[in-house]
Order: sequence, then C-alpha cells, then structure tokens
Amino acid sequence: MSLINKVVIITGAASGIGEGIATHFAKLSARLALIDIDVDKLRKVAEQCENLSKAKVLGVPADVSKDGDVKRAISDIKHEYGKIDVVINCAGIAGYNRNILDADLLSEFDKVISVNLRAMVAVTHYAAPALIESKGCIVNIASVMARMSCKSAISYNISKAGVAHFTRNAALDFADKGVRVNSISPGPVETNLLINSGSNQVENAKTWETLAKTTPLQRNVHVMEIAAMAAYLASDQAKGITGSDFIIDCGFILSGTVNA
Ligand code: NAD
Repeated sequence: MSLINKVVIITGAASGIGEGIATHFAKLSARLALIDIDVDKLRKVAEQCENLSKAKVLGVPADVSKDGDVKRAISDIKHEYGKIDVVINCAGIAGYNRNILDADLLSEFDKVISVNLRAMVAVTHYAAPALIESKGCIVNIASVMARMSCKSAISYNISKAGVAHFTRNAALDFADKGVRVNSISPGPVETNLLINSGSNQVENAKTWETLAKTTPLQRNVHVMEIAAMAAYLASDQAKGITGSDFIIDCGFILSGTVNA
C-alpha cells in the first residue's frame, strides 16, 4: 500500500494513536501535516517522521477546539502543499469521569464535546473545499464507546456517538463530490488518553493488564493496528467505502462491559 504524494493532515498527532498513524504514514511516503496542541511533543514526532520518510513533514501547532486555530492551520497547510488529500481526525480527550448529578457536569460536557466532536466538524468544514478539489477522504477516530454505555462517562460516550453519526452524515453530504468519509472505533489502546484524564482509571501496567482481560482476545489493541486500517481507508484501495465504521477492539464490544 502506498500513500506517495498524498497530502495527509493528522490531528492529535503528537501522541498515542495519532502518533502511530503519523509514523506509519511517514513510512508509506505520505506528505504529512501534523496538528497538535502539545508543541514540544509535536516537534519530536515531526522529527521522527522526517527520519522515516523522504517526503516533507510539517508540524502545525493548533488547538482544534478553537475555530481560529483550525482555519489558520488548514489555510497554512493548503498554502504549503497546494492541496489536501486526506484528513485524519484523531485529536481527543477522555475528560474526567462525570455523571448526571455532578455539579461541574455541564462545563466538562462542553469541553469534551468541543475537542472530540465540534473540532472534527470544524476541521472537516475548513478542509472541505480542498478535499473536494482533490476528491480526497476523511478518517475519523470514534470509539467502541459510540456503541456502548457505562456509568460516569456521559460526555465522552456522547461525543464518540456523535463522531460516528457525523461520519455517516458527512459521507452523504460529500458523496456526489467524490469525497469519502469513514471512521474507526478502537477498543482499549495503551496510550496517554486515560492517564491524561486524571481519572485514575488506567495509570499503570497492572491496570492495562486488567483491562486486557475484559477483551475476548485477552489483550489491548495496538496503535499500529489502528494505523494500518487508517492507511487502508486513506488509500485508493478503499475507493468503494464511505459512511462506514470499523471496529478494532479485540472483541471488547462483545463482552458487553466496560467495568475493568
Ligand atoms: P493521547 O492522549 O495519547 O493522544 C491525544 C492527542 O490529542 C494528544 O497528542 C493531545 O495533545 C491531542 N489533543 C488533545 N486536545 C487537543 C486539542 N484541543 N487540539 C489539538 N490537539 C489536541 O490519546 P489517544 O488514545 O491516542 O487518543 C486519540 C483518539 O483515539 C482520541 O480521539 C480518542 O478518543 C480515541 N480513542 C482512544 C482509545 C484508547 O483506548 N486510547 C480508544 C478509543 C478511541
């Protein structure tokens, strides 16, 4: 599979799944534009990708929850490369565990929705003219939590259900313009997501081990398994696929529980 000459934007590229997709795409010779709010980590990942690829790699610091940042980032990338072929919407936060009775639920909800869902709509909106020009495609990172429920994760779970639904609606809006939109729904992946949430859900190897035991395959998903699916969906081999969601979860969803 090759992504030679494809200009690919990846949001949330400085860590975890986004970083994995960035390094995988670098090896496939994509021309990368990496967006993240974490400037230091972004610089390191951009350097790492440059070492893996002969193609150009651009690091673009931006907060995807701010419309001004998104507009500027997309415009800078289009100006630099002259086109945009692929957008991978990956930036996300877990938020803190909140339930319907918590006093700060609404501020938490606004924050999680703005990063996980609204930002995805904004990036897609601003990149749309360039994507239509190139007959490009979009891959959104949703989650198995788009299809499951658990206690005290209202904001995150609703944001991810929104991502899956946004994917289908955007696929319809773009279909007659030759742009494809799909999503990937990972199960548990060992990244900083839950650690950064401060929720103490997953803070050490032992807890990851416990979470792995809740999946039928008795292991967590690897970032490179998500990256491989993203590369396939971004490639011309997936020309017939739009509006679909691909679960990669080691069977987690089958277990019907998220109480690790
Ligand atoms: P991560 O914390 O390792 O990476 C998230 C990245 O997004 C970080 O680099 C962070 O700086 C960036 N980011 C956060 N807010 C941002 C903002 N406002 N603007 C720009 N960048 C921002 O977590 P991850 O697990 O790699 O998460 C990536 C995506 O995968 C998220 O959308 C997450 O919901 C989804 N996901 C993760 C898992 C999992 O188990 N790790 C499972 C399902 C879905």
